[in-house]
Amino acid sequence: MFEVTIEQSFAAGHALRNYRGKCENVHGHNYRCQVTLAGQDLDSTGLLIDFVAAKKVLQGIIDRLDHQWLNEFPPFDTLNPSAENIAKYIYDEFNKGIDTANGVRLGSVRLWETDTSSAIYRL
Ligand SMILES: [Zn+2]
Repeated sequence: MFEVTIEQSFAAGHALRNYRGKCENVHGHNYRCQVTLAGQDLDSTGLLIDFVAAKKVLQGIIDRLDHQWLNEFPPFDTLNPSAENIAKYIYDEFNKGIDTANGVRLGSVRLWETDTSSAIYRL
């Protein structure tokens, strides 16, 4: 099994609903997002997936989230913008954009809110 990872960062604001503590207040994060792709087979070039192609898919998602007030950004206008839910959102959106021609699949999305706190979503 091969795995490749790509990472990109974005800044966004949020406030957690139904939460008692500092995170119920308006605040922001410099989020760091790591996407891991996995597969058994490499293409004729020896690649699982072209980093450039994978980063392009992630950049498209990040561009929509960057510098947003997440509590008004669907689906987070109703779904709580927790690190867990944002990781799943990126996972689902990435899955729509990935070319799975050679059997590569999305393994996981890890989203850091801080250097020491992250959430992972995988199937
Ligand atoms: Zn927060």
